[in-house]
Amino acid sequence: MSEETVTLTIGKQKNIALIAHDGKKQELLEWCDWNREVLQCHFLCGTGTTAKMITDRTGLPVRGYNSGPLGGDQQIGAKIVEGTIDFVIFFSDPLTAQPHDPDVKALLRIALVYDIPIATNRASADFMITSKLMEEEYQHEVENFHKAVLDRADNL
Ligand code: PGA
Repeated sequence: MSEETVTLTIGKQKNIALIAHDGKKQELLEWCDWNREVLQCHFLCGTGTTAKMITDRTGLPVRGYNSGPLGGDQQIGAKIVEGTIDFVIFFSDPLTAQPHDPDVKALLRIALVYDIPIATNRASADFMITSKLMEEEYQHEVENFHKAVLDRADNL
């Protein structure tokens, strides 16, 4: 490992965030119901409405943050930065304008920065949830942010 990067570990038990735009909520509910056995082995959270609907429909415990348009996507992005969310299932609706589109973009960007697995449609979610890595620890390299701060403070 170079000191430009640090190794992060996604544990066997993943911290999964579940999010669905309104036009995709029913699809995500069905998907969660279908994948209940796998999902119940992990820690689940989600944007407020999505989380509540999944718990009501499936009985899975899903910790709810604020509703997406009220900052829930930003909360989930912040948890990725803090290292307490490491897997995202986000059923995004490509055919409907979202008032919180900048927040959605910010979440997608931060998931890229931290190399977090993120599915934005059902097929990707199906491939991710059936991966053998769901039952294994996974190590990945992300930028060494501590070093980045020191370098920037020295050089700017
Ligand atoms: P919601 O938010 O679960 O509160 O509806 C989802 C979203 O980002 O639109």
